[in-house]
Amino acid sequence: MTKKIIIATGNQGKVNEFKELFSGIDLSVSSLKDHWNPLPDIEENGSAFYDNAKIKADWVYERRGGVWALADDSGLEVDALGGAPGVLSARFSGEGATSESNNEKLLNDLKEIPEHLRTARFKCVLVLKTGPETYLSAEGTCEGVIITEKSGSRGFGYDPLFIPQGFNETFAQISSEEKNKISHRGKAMRALYKELQKIID
Ligand code: IMP
Repeated sequence: MTKKIIIATGNQGKVNEFKELFSGIDLSVSSLKDHWNPLPDIEENGSAFYDNAKIKADWVYERRGGVWALADDSGLEVDALGGAPGVLSARFSGEGATSESNNEKLLNDLKEIPEHLRTARFKCVLVLKTGPETYLSAEGTCEGVIITEKSGSRGFGYDPLFIPQGFNETFAQISSEEKNKISHRGKAMRALYKELQKIID
């Protein structure tokens, strides 16, 4: 029987990526907007990416009992800032934060830090709740450095400031296909897909 899965995000870009990833598996995929109007504001107060992804998966599962719930959480960890902004990546510059203000704060916080110490990584954790007490999870990491001024106009968030290891362009300069091959989210999704294949059919 076709399994139903709800993706716990309001971000259509992510929903599309998941739909594409799962197209080869017998799964019926929907997302928050197919079930709630207006979209729920699920409070993410965990101290780790895993905790926040689990909070979102639990929230959906509890309200749509029995239907699988998949959530992701991601962010940027900068070594010179002790791992910040981490789970606070979306709200780094405080109330009303935008990508613009977050990038400005990041550049400002790192202004005294020399190039060789500007190492950072994006992390993504996926949590799939498949039963009252059962979860599948997967993680992806992408190492890189934070440059000193923005470059590129693609992508979102911290993309214009992040050069992945082995590249000389930022995430905001490379194509989305290229980014997906090496990104934290792409890696986490492919890892989850492998786990999922083991338990379906
Ligand atoms: P969320 O997991 O969608 O809530 O993302 C948290 C925040 O991390 C985003 O708002 C971005 O600031 C940052 N982030 C996560 N993934 C990326 C990425 O691939 N590029 C740039 N910023 C990202």
